[in-house]
Amino acid sequence: MIIFKKIPDIKKYLSEQKAAGANTGFIPTMGALHAGHLSLIERATTDGMLTVCSIFLNPTQFNDKKDFEKYPVSTEDDIELLLKAGCNVLFLPSVDEIYPGGESTVKTYDFGYLDTILEGANRPGHFKGVGQVVARLLEIVQPQNLYLGQKDYQQCMVIRKLIGMMGEDVQVVICPTKREADGLAMSSRNRRLTEPQRAIAAVIYQCLVSIESKQYTSSFEMVRKQCEDLLAAKGFVPEYVALADAKDLKLLEEYSGETPMVALIAAKIGEIRLIDNILLG
Ligand code: AMP
Repeated sequence: MIIFKKIPDIKKYLSEQKAAGANTGFIPTMGALHAGHLSLIERATTDGMLTVCSIFLNPTQFNDKKDFEKYPVSTEDDIELLLKAGCNVLFLPSVDEIYPGGESTVKTYDFGYLDTILEGANRPGHFKGVGQVVARLLEIVQPQNLYLGQKDYQQCMVIRKLIGMMGEDVQVVICPTKREADGLAMSSRNRRLTEPQRAIAAVIYQCLVSIESKQYTSSFEMVRKQCEDLLAAKGFVPEYVALADAKDLKLLEEYSGETPMVALIAAKIGEIRLIDNILLG
């Protein structure tokens, strides 16, 4: 694995590889890697890509300063994991490398409706930051394929929209959410959970499964209330328990037989905010 810290160096290398016929599969991350991240690298490898992973803790997408300050960093371990996973290239830039003129000088994108609901509504400015950094990274890496996790469902939609607005020809590959044995979606933030918090954290997934399993027998309004009550009983503060059209994330008040649906939950335990979702099959 080759590690690059400077933009001109990685650009030069990737353009040489491209000229030699390589297709690049890009996996952007914020580090503190786990098996979910590695599954994206495995998928890109299976697709025959030259795998390029980036680790960049992007300050502009954190609306909560504490969340940024406490975000786990484990670069040495991450490098080990990437080596084992057979990753070809790691891009490890500094904040100055990504935002040389300061954070406010980077072009921003307006995601319209997508930025007004769920994560957009609860984390003001978050998707603006995501747009900034992903646009910047795509310009640098210029991949054929971009590998994203379904775990961040709304982010996948935002990034698809971004690619359209940038007029880039990048194929987005959305990979299934990797879970712990009890169903908890893997997340870098899980490292911050205390033992008792970790022991009950799978309740989010249990709620999603119950939303799915009750879709033909109950009203969503009732199931939502049950989920909110269960989350609260376990010590979570639910931010949203939502049902939406899986295609465009238009929020649904009731189960629909006419469109594919996605159920999404965000909830906080102590200072830690977790999100998860499930496609209703
Ligand atoms: P992050 O480091 O949290 O910004 O995540 C980097 C990429 O990994 C994003 O595309 C995430 O959606 C994806 N990802 C995070 N957690 C998981 C997971 N449990 N399963 C699959 N992909 C994930």
